[in-house]
Amino acid sequence: MDNARFVDQLQRGGEALGLSLGEGVAPGLQRLMAELLKWNAKVNLTAITAPEEVLEKHFLDSLAVLPEVEGAASLLDLGAGAGFPGLPLKLARPALAVTLVDAVGKKVGFLKAAIAALGLKEARGLHLRAEGDPEREGIPRAELLIARAFMDLPDWLALAPAYVRPGGRVVAMLGKAQPESELAARASERGLRVVSSRQYRLPFSGAERQVAVFSQA
Ligand code: SAM
Repeated sequence: MDNARFVDQLQRGGEALGLSLGEGVAPGLQRLMAELLKWNAKVNLTAITAPEEVLEKHFLDSLAVLPEVEGAASLLDLGAGAGFPGLPLKLARPALAVTLVDAVGKKVGFLKAAIAALGLKEARGLHLRAEGDPEREGIPRAELLIARAFMDLPDWLALAPAYVRPGGRVVAMLGKAQPESELAARASERGLRVVSSRQYRLPFSGAERQVAVFSQA
């Protein structure tokens, strides 16, 4: 994918998602794509390797939750894998302090290399396993906790609150939309409430997504 097409697709996709992306985002994402595809030739980081698909299914899918992230100072991405959604969110909002945690060393090796290649400040990759006890595990709490393709919703709402600072929020990125009543019931089981939820579609494939935000009730 050449530079002009990348910028055009990013802009069109961002507009379709209603996002405001600064001009600096495209070069960072292009560098991230190059690092990802280079590493993926040696280390299995992602099954999505066609540049157009990486742009939509990794980059735009990550950036789609920017409205839920706005205003937060710190973000913790658990089970970050190759850095989604945390790295695109950091590129789009450089002031956000981002911690990416994964239990697999080679993935964290990539995260650290990508952070260095992108020259990101206040971003780090940690090779740790999240099991519900952040102090013991050495995982820092954040204002906003997020994960994609990490756990199903009931398990996520059981694990996540321990990693959030007081007054913070938990974001769930859902591949399969859930009715509001289901979200409220799952939240209530864990002493949480639904702050917001919305459904949207990825701009080119039309794939359905939902994002929901939870806080202490
Ligand atoms: N979030 C990325 C994405 O959407 O592309 C990766 C999703 S991948 C399906 C799930 C990731 O969670 C894997 O990289 C795996 O190593 C990591 N993982 C699984 N259990 C974990 C745990 N308890 N603590 C930290 N990472 C974990």
